[in-house]
Amino acid sequence: MVSGPSGVGKTTIVHRMQSRLGGHFSVSATTRPRSEEEIDGTDYYFVTPSEFERMKRGGEFLEWAEVFGRHAYGTPRRPVETALERGELIVLDIDVQGARQVRNAMPEAYMIFILPPDEDELMRRLQSRGRDDPEAIQRRYAEAQHEIRQATEVRLYDAFVINDDLERAVNETCELVSRRRGQLECPSPGAPPEASPGSP
Ligand code: ADP
Ligand code: 5GP
Repeated sequence: MVSGPSGVGKTTIVHRMQSRLGGHFSVSATTRPRSEEEIDGTDYYFVTPSEFERMKRGGEFLEWAEVFGRHAYGTPRRPVETALERGELIVLDIDVQGARQVRNAMPEAYMIFILPPDEDELMRRLQSRGRDDPEAIQRRYAEAQHEIRQATEVRLYDAFVINDDLERAVNETCELVSRRRGQLECPSPGAPPEASPGSP
């Protein structure tokens, strides 16, 4: 499971790690509007607030939270449970509030928090994503500082990775996850992903 402020590079790291390790990405449901380059069902399930409420009441979420106090995000429970039953890797990209809930529900979950090298660089990445308007970028930036403080103050995460150089950060993340799953090292890029039992 990975967390980290918006724009820090979580999606990029997770996708590159998965091309080496295999496994699944947990697609969250959200009431946030879809941006142009996002695909429904791949990046998120984009749902209405009433649909989200229905899923919540039906116990369909492993965890859910209101992020930035505006939109709801939730992890569908079933795909996570199915992957774990099969001993497959499943990666969740969720915020600190969600991480707390997962820690309670699944104490064995492995949680990594991704940090930016510094605040200026985080701002540059938020802008380079080209996804949000200036107001949303400012809001995400302010929220990022709060989230980093929260994450570093509580003993919730198993590891912290600084996303300075992308290749280095992907290697470190992949090594951490591999070791946790009982593999000696992260397979090199291009090698077929290994299917081995382990925890998320
Ligand atoms: P998140 O999923 O955390 O919101 P993204 O993976 O969408 O972040 O990355 C945000 C932006 O930063 C993207 O434009 C991505 O290409 C860029 N990025 C990610 N990692 C790095 C890095 N190590 N150095 C420079 N740019 C990066
Ligand atoms: P974004 O809108 O930039 O895609 O995501 C905003 C924040 O929501 C990120 O911190 C991301 O980790 C978090 N997030 C995405 N999906 C979920 C989820 O299912 N649950 C929780 N708690 N947070 C999520």
